[in-house]
Amino acid sequence: MREASGNERTRTSIWLATVTMAPSTRRVKRPDVPDRFVWLYGNPKMRDGCYEYHPAVQSHIEEAYLNDKDKCMINFHGEKRTLSFDSMSDSSGSDKRQIKRVHSTKLHMSKCKGISGASYVSTKGYQQTDEKCNICFHKQMVPTRIPACGHSFCYTCIKTNFKKRLPCPMCRGDLPISLFVNPIRYDVDFDVECPEEFAEDCSAMFKKPDNEEVGESSSKRKESKLRHYWIYEARGFWYRYDPKHEKYLEEHFLRNKPSCTLFICGIKMQVDFKKHTQKGDEWNAARERKIKRIAASDMHKFKIRGIAGVSFLVQPIS
Ligand SMILES: [Zn+2]
Ligand SMILES: [Zn+2]
Repeated sequence: MREASGNERTRTSIWLATVTMAPSTRRVKRPDVPDRFVWLYGNPKMRDGCYEYHPAVQSHIEEAYLNDKDKCMINFHGEKRTLSFDSMSDSSGSDKRQIKRVHSTKLHMSKCKGISGASYVSTKGYQQTDEKCNICFHKQMVPTRIPACGHSFCYTCIKTNFKKRLPCPMCRGDLPISLFVNPIRYDVDFDVECPEEFAEDCSAMFKKPDNEEVGESSSKRKESKLRHYWIYEARGFWYRYDPKHEKYLEEHFLRNKPSCTLFICGIKMQVDFKKHTQKGDEWNAARERKIKRIAASDMHKFKIRGIAGVSFLVQPIS
């Protein structure tokens, strides 16, 4: 239990005031508008500019705070960070930044730049969408809108065009490099599933083997009913594959294939399920990466940052 801080005293007195105040003198409050507090972190001090924590951890932090916990932990883009309510700081190793709790109605006074490292402005119009992608003709995975023309595609589909120095396929407008350099987003659901129609296309590519329901294959099938992710390593962190690529890998894996070939952003990749690696063919220099198939429930064991090179994962740990 931490020592009574100013905040705690305030909370106690608010509580006392609430229980001792006669109902007739209590200001009538609309029950549908509960008080909401937003947790912010500085960069590293609040005066240097600040960001809101990702919506996925706001209630986790608030709950720990209201339950008088000393601290709580979150996964912040693959990094384990500890929030201390004593020192009102958020740290990972020697990296420390200031944190603050503000009432939602006072948020505009905090000079907040955005949410979880993504600025408010650059993420405008990037929300999850059911729109089809005009490159792969399926539901957009990690929908990415080109700011200048407004056309929107899957992240890996439009990145393929960018890598091949092709323009926007709809209007031939330029693709800004800023979309592809260390992208951070907060509006994408990590748990997004591969669309059904793509899943069907994908399984149609395989011939049904004769020994479908026997041996290892059937036990893998049973196990596969649990949610699994395919992840790859990049610069000391892990990213989930684009769900379409993931679906493709999973299908090959369940068919007991030793390897498979995958096109990622126009590069032909060889995936080896025995060595747990992915590498480019002899014609390109894409380096070998470690890959893994993990149960969704084990994802907290890995420094996972997002999907397909797009960072957005922030989640509660404890
Ligand atoms: Zn696409
Ligand atoms: Zn366009």
